[in-house]
Parts: sequence; structure tokens; C-alpha cells
Amino acid sequence: MIECNAKTRSGGQCQRAGNPKNGRCHLHGGKSTGPKTAEGRARIAAAQFKHGNRSKAAIAAQRARAARGRAIRAELAALEVEVIREGLLQSNWRDDYRI
Ligand SMILES: [Zn+2]
Repeated sequence: MIECNAKTRSGGQCQRAGNPKNGRCHLHGGKSTGPKTAEGRARIAAAQFKHGNRSKAAIAAQRARAARGRAIRAELAALEVEVIREGLLQSNWRDDYRI
């Protein structure tokens, strides 16, 4: 284990473990700078991935379902207007279904 080489305010050496790349602990300038290679980035991304509910594909699927629902509701509203205009349904038909 490499030790942090930083000098403390009391004059001693920092007791923390240092980053092997620059000999400093995370308090003294040795914080990780993150993955640099494509494999490293992929490994970190895989480690952070939890369920995919917020992934681009899942959000796109959710938006598609919402758009389909809006289209269905719009079609039903247009049908309701037409059926009322044709006299097949009273315009206050919803009153029979009030709770
Ligand atoms: Zn240190």
C-alpha cells in the first residue's frame, strides 16, 4: 500500500492510503479521475446500472404508450361527440355513472 505523501498542518505525514498514480490520498489531490478506457467506462456503467427503467429505450416505450393512450382518448371523445350528435346518447349520459 502506498502512503499519502502530503504534509499535515502539524508537520507530520498524512496517515491515509494514497492513490498509487500520484501518491496522494483523496483529501490531498489523489481523488480518482474516473475510468479512461472504453472497457473501464463500460465496467463502471454496468456497475451503476440498476433496473433500466430510466434507460432511453424504457423512456421511449413509456412515451409511446402515453401517446397511444392520448390517441385512444381523443378518438373516444370524438366518438362521444358524434354519438351525441346522432342522438344515440344523451349529452348528460355521464350523470348516470356519477358515484
Ligand atoms: Zn493525504
